[in-house]
Amino acid sequence: MDDIIDSLSPNFDARDQAISMVVLHYTGMRDAESAIAWLRNPESRVSCHYLIAEDGQILRMVAEENRAWHAGLSYWRGISAVNGCSVGIEIVNPGHEFGYRPFTEEQMDALIPLLAGIVDRHQVPRANVVGHSDVAPARKQDPGELFDWPRLARHGLAVARPSRDLVDPHWTDGGFLLALERYGYDVRSARDAIIAFQRRFRPETLDGIIDGECRAILLQLLLDRERGHVI
Ligand SMILES: [Zn+2]
Repeated sequence: MDDIIDSLSPNFDARDQAISMVVLHYTGMRDAESAIAWLRNPESRVSCHYLIAEDGQILRMVAEENRAWHAGLSYWRGISAVNGCSVGIEIVNPGHEFGYRPFTEEQMDALIPLLAGIVDRHQVPRANVVGHSDVAPARKQDPGELFDWPRLARHGLAVARPSRDLVDPHWTDGGFLLALERYGYDVRSARDAIIAFQRRFRPETLDGIIDGECRAILLQLLLDRERGHVI
């Protein structure tokens, strides 16, 4: 894409793994300018590969071949510290602290081809296109319940929320957590993991309570994976 502007950050080092994940974030600061300044400040020790402004402008802050510092302490599907194998995309939004609001149409229009290129170049499995809250459920809420995952799913860029043939397996809560861990989540903080799962797959009710709908969605996600429908 030739409409990406370089706005490079010094906050990166060498990758220790091949790229197999994409982590989506919101910036969670008052405005784009302060977020960009923070991500370029050597003292912040944080960065991302790409940032998408509210008008859809994409900034490249770290080259994909390098490790950006966006996810912090994190875990997904057996991988600890996901920075080493992921591309991090920050989408400008004040976030829950400063006035969370829907992402703009321009941001989504910019994200989709950017993400499609990354997924294609590195053969990223769809189930490894995740939110920051999925990989750090006890610490993070981003990109949050207003993020349009269904739109990414329609473009084949993220796992869709299962909606057909849903059956409640009536697992115990312990059984649900085991299944959630098998899907990829760090479940050591159980309630946080349940809320992260809800934020991603059942965002209309974020109560941290395991119910029949949560169980049915999770069962279907695991069955789809085992049947090879989603990798
Ligand atoms: Zn984040």
